[in-house]
Amino acid sequence: MGDLLKPIYTSAEFRLGTQLCVVFMIVFAIALIFWTWRDADRRGAMPWFWAVVVGIFSVFGWMIYMVVRPPEFAEDARERELEIRAKEAEISRGVTTCPSCLKPVESDYLICPYCMKKLRKECTSCGKALKLSWAVCPYCKTKQPPATATETPAAPVPPAKG
Ligand SMILES: [Zn+2]
Ligand SMILES: [Zn+2]
Repeated sequence: MGDLLKPIYTSAEFRLGTQLCVVFMIVFAIALIFWTWRDADRRGAMPWFWAVVVGIFSVFGWMIYMVVRPPEFAEDARERELEIRAKEAEISRGVTTCPSCLKPVESDYLICPYCMKKLRKECTSCGKALKLSWAVCPYCKTKQPPATATETPAAPVPPAKG
């Protein structure tokens, strides 16, 4: 049996194929180390340590890294934290959001500057911004006319052409 396969083992094509396989595996191992190093760096998870682990254990080290690596990129986490902090600052500053389009609006806006939704009404006497449900102005004690359900739209809607 061994004698039968011997010409194959010793043939130039076989040796070339083996060498190509070895070269491919080396390139693959280096690429895996580099990929792990970059991925760990972006996630803020000890890139040099994981590069060494993958360098020693190759695919098995990479598999361990894939299991224990942080689930998100460090930049993403930082960005989200900044976003949350900005939201908190907005809330503490008294900035509210439009109930219609959810964009930030100041608490004394009469209408939303983004979607034109009516947010507050003007006091008929002192002109301060009042909540639509308030029946009396808390600043000058002037009674407000009841809010009408059907308000005249800002721009007349053109009749649909039939
Ligand atoms: Zn709006
Ligand atoms: Zn008033």
